[in-house]
Amino acid sequence: MCSICSSDCVVDYKCNGTWLTVDQKCMKIDCGNSRTGTSQQSYNEWKQPLNILLPGLILAAGISATKLIRAFKAVNITWISESTYYKSVNSNAYPAVFQLWKDEKKDIIKTMTTRRQPLIIGGDMRADTPGHCAKFGTYSFLELNINKIISTQLLQSNEVGNSNAMEKQGFIRCLEDLQQYDLRPHTVITDRHLQIAKYIREEQNDIVHHYDIWHLTKG
Ligand SMILES: [Zn+2]
Repeated sequence: MCSICSSDCVVDYKCNGTWLTVDQKCMKIDCGNSRTGTSQQSYNEWKQPLNILLPGLILAAGISATKLIRAFKAVNITWISESTYYKSVNSNAYPAVFQLWKDEKKDIIKTMTTRRQPLIIGGDMRADTPGHCAKFGTYSFLELNINKIISTQLLQSNEVGNSNAMEKQGFIRCLEDLQQYDLRPHTVITDRHLQIAKYIREEQNDIVHHYDIWHLTKG
């Protein structure tokens, strides 16, 4: 109903992901009253804040986007499609995460180089699947004085031979990564991975190597 002359109105809805806009136009020709309401501010027709923020939040919370989108669909809540979700995280969320890590790492490296304290490193790999047939793995160095990740390297099993070789290769890459900042671990604590123990003993023998007590008690 028109807010000025109370005549009937034509109402038009438009949706883009989480964004809803409603156009109301008075049908009485000599009135011509019209108004538009939107559910949220919009930078332009394709960039609505929630359409960008929600994919980022899902990623940060570690929820499955596929399941959430299916649940929204089941109760008729309009939302972005799965492909839009992936487009959004690829162009917004991931670059933000990488930038944050880059800045954070810069600070950590700066702290460690100015501190001149021996580096105590905890190293371990996390694989995408448990067991011995992982495709991807990340090897990380945790600096135990400051309790922060100082290096993390992503590996794909077929680039290093097989999934078993990823652990040693990841360890080497973390070591090389620190080397470019003139940082070298004084002590390294790892699980009882034989290849790494052998590698340190034979090729990095100035590094003190210990086994992690948690892995020891577990095995
Ligand atoms: Zn009117």
